[in-house]
Amino acid sequence: MIPHKTPHLTHKEKKDLKILALFTSVYCRDHHAETREPLSSLPRQLACLEKYRCCASCRDFLIYAIERRLNCPLEERPACKHCHVHCYRPDHREKVREIMRYSGKALIRRGRLDLLWHYLF
Ligand SMILES: [Zn+2]
Repeated sequence: MIPHKTPHLTHKEKKDLKILALFTSVYCRDHHAETREPLSSLPRQLACLEKYRCCASCRDFLIYAIERRLNCPLEERPACKHCHVHCYRPDHREKVREIMRYSGKALIRRGRLDLLWHYLF
């Protein structure tokens, strides 16, 4: 779980997490037929992520990814694809790549977020 005493988030951290949630929800909408719900019991600093809905397994993944992002030990926070720490479990890393690849393209096709494609992963 994400700790409720999550410290104040920087603008960049919030942006990263929004992209993560957005991309996961886009991927989920096109791949999973299950009922999608917002993440529940988020700390108040992350309430901005509640508008993104995912199925249960994508919510689990997203919580994991948010935790990893918040626990990133690197001062400079390189884009994860350039990171040498590789904090994601291998199966999650594969999933995050797939989500970013798919949703990045889907959003670009709709003429949105062209900047974001290379931003995170
Ligand atoms: Zn899903």
